[in-house]
Amino acid sequence: MRTAVYPGSFDPVTNGHLEIIRRAAALFDRLVVLAAVNFTKEYLFTAQERVEMLRLCTSGLPNVDVRAAEGLVALYAKEIGATAIVKGLRAMSDFDSEFQQALTNRQLNPQTETIFLPAAGESMFLSSSMVKQVCALGGDIGPFVPAAALPMILGKLG
Ligand code: ADP
Repeated sequence: MRTAVYPGSFDPVTNGHLEIIRRAAALFDRLVVLAAVNFTKEYLFTAQERVEMLRLCTSGLPNVDVRAAEGLVALYAKEIGATAIVKGLRAMSDFDSEFQQALTNRQLNPQTETIFLPAAGESMFLSSSMVKQVCALGGDIGPFVPAAALPMILGKLG
């Protein structure tokens, strides 16, 4: 059984994240979407809320599990015996930090390979911070986030 982990902040989840989830779920037997809890980061949504949003929009994907965890993703991946850590790559701007993370994760856990999936054209510029900004300025975020998660997102941001 091949398991992959897709880690991120998902603060909040966007259509770009969901797109990567769908494609990664098709490549592995099981995909664990991991809402990361990093004490050096400030989140708008709690870990529980991020997990709930992700569960709402992945309920139709039977091989996707949503979890939250503190600590190093590489060690989490090792613990659950994951074959791969999946990351989405938008523009070149993602590349430097993702490459650094991939090399560090390989040092920490050589058994788990990092796999990059390129963003789909229409999701290329989508980010959680863009969603928060559009909402704060009164724009419609409907086109940018999964419909199932929209009420929860508007409940906090709207
Ligand atoms: P952000 O706050 O930048 O949206 P996250 O930490 O939640 O990012 O992202 C988790 C992972 O998903 C990262 O690998 C990131 O590069 C990827 N990702 C984020 N947005 C997109 C998108 N629109 N298309 C493809 N991958 C994405």
